[in-house]
Amino acid sequence: MSVTLDDITALAKRRGFVFQSSELYGGLANLYDYGPMGTALLRNIRNLWWKTFVDDRDDMVGLDASTISHAKIWEASGHVAGFADAMIDCKSCHVRMRADHLIEDYFTKKGKEEKVEGKSLEELDVLIAKEKIPCPTCGKHTWTTVRKFNLLFPVHLGILEESQSLAYLRGETAQGMFVNFKNVLDSTRVRLPFGVAQLGKSFRNEITKGNFVFRTLEFEQGEIEYFFDPEQTKWETLYEEWKKTMWEFVTTTLGVNKSNLRWRAHTDEERSFYSKRTEDLEYNYPFGYKELWGLAYRTDYDLSQHIKFSGKDLSYTDPQSNKKFVPHVIEPAVGINRLFLMVLADAYWKDEQRGRIVLKLNKTLAPYRAAVFPLVSNKPEIVAKARSVYTALKSAYPTVWDDRGNIGKRYLAQDEIGTPFCVTIDYQTLEDNTVTVRNRDTAEQQRVKIDELKGAVA
Ligand code: ATP
Repeated sequence: MSVTLDDITALAKRRGFVFQSSELYGGLANLYDYGPMGTALLRNIRNLWWKTFVDDRDDMVGLDASTISHAKIWEASGHVAGFADAMIDCKSCHVRMRADHLIEDYFTKKGKEEKVEGKSLEELDVLIAKEKIPCPTCGKHTWTTVRKFNLLFPVHLGILEESQSLAYLRGETAQGMFVNFKNVLDSTRVRLPFGVAQLGKSFRNEITKGNFVFRTLEFEQGEIEYFFDPEQTKWETLYEEWKKTMWEFVTTTLGVNKSNLRWRAHTDEERSFYSKRTEDLEYNYPFGYKELWGLAYRTDYDLSQHIKFSGKDLSYTDPQSNKKFVPHVIEPAVGINRLFLMVLADAYWKDEQRGRIVLKLNKTLAPYRAAVFPLVSNKPEIVAKARSVYTALKSAYPTVWDDRGNIGKRYLAQDEIGTPFCVTIDYQTLEDNTVTVRNRDTAEQQRVKIDELKGAVA
């Protein structure tokens, strides 16, 4: 892959996709703000996700749970006890990092692959010592021992910092679906198998810094809990169906290059104890293949835990057989910001021949479908005509107006934000009601009748 992370961050800042969060006050690491273009791209990704997984299906419903949630939810889910990363500090330069990343990056540089998820703290210590892994920042080998660090952000509700006021910012959206399972069942007409989908912010006090929006403290997830009766539906079949659906979404709906994607099955050690199978769909980011989307068969673990901790009945009764049981679940979980970074990396194209940078975004993803330019800004007839073309097009597609600088500069600016079509109104327009439509990828121009413009940019 020729595009670097620096290329992407520079473009993202230059064109208003992503800014450093709190930049005015020196910035905060691992947090980002999305600018006008980034907001539009994120919204398009989100909308396509929702349309594909909720609106276009008849076995899915949506949910929007609160981000602050009861401490007991996270005790039941196992996050309070187990949602922790192993971290290590360098005694020389005081850099703090995740021990698994230290080891994995060290082996990657040596051309080997080493997965350490599931190893104990002692095993990590031994491996780091045995390999004499140096600090990537200062080069010394003076590590502390590896310690656990919980990723959940506690919040204290009310004015008193008493233990009963302790809540957590959710570490994943998934728990919302489990704790509302009964509410969804009782308030809708759903029957197994069915899924509950949610898009929303999650929060993790991540230790690792860097890699732009790939790993942040606050991020958006798109998660689905697909509930089923394991005696009626073979989980292996369902699992394969979900793999196909996820692949289709990334390659066709988002238009991402297949050669930059791969499936990776979790090893027995790295897979959670309750999961029968977990596979990650990985994308070849500028920093290598990394998890984009996880697919896990979580059995009835979460619902059973909440039954245990809440003392409430969260079982399902089959309307035909009256069989009462706790459904099993398959979970496709993706990070919307990781989809965003993938889409940017995949679309980034240095057109050396024409000396420009182009974001070859799918039409449905681009912040604007079209840009409308009056050839000159000092001829009232041309400006008025352009304005009417702009207004008509804007009623059908997100469209932007630009009358600044020369046409060449306007094209370059639109190429960098991925606008598929640029429409120019010129002197000829006044005579024959045609405009030029310039194609982003080929840079070719065509004359199109104004009446046929909506179809030409469809
Ligand atoms: P990783 O191994 O990369 O930390 P994970 O296995 O902990 O990820 P999950 O708990 O499975 O991630 O979360 C589901 C999805 O949420 C991931 O596939 C990823 O796309 C996204 N995600 C998780 N953590 C972050 C984060 N800190 N920033 C952005 N996206 C994230």
